[in-house]
Amino acid sequence: MVKEQWIFCPVCGGKTRLKIHENTILENFPLFCPKCKQETMIDARQLNIFVIKEPDAKTRSQ
Ligand SMILES: [Zn+2]
Repeated sequence: MVKEQWIFCPVCGGKTRLKIHENTILENFPLFCPKCKQETMIDARQLNIFVIKEPDAKTRSQ
């Protein structure tokens, strides 16, 4: 049996329409929330969601 879990929006906490399985790996995935209509970049692996804090590209030094 594969465990699965809904992805919750890191902005508003609402449930999105996306599910991940324990063997799902997401990298730099643009998660769109239908509730707050925000897009958040996330990583996901082993049912853990990591929000990618992406500072404004202009402020990031190279
Ligand atoms: Zn949201």
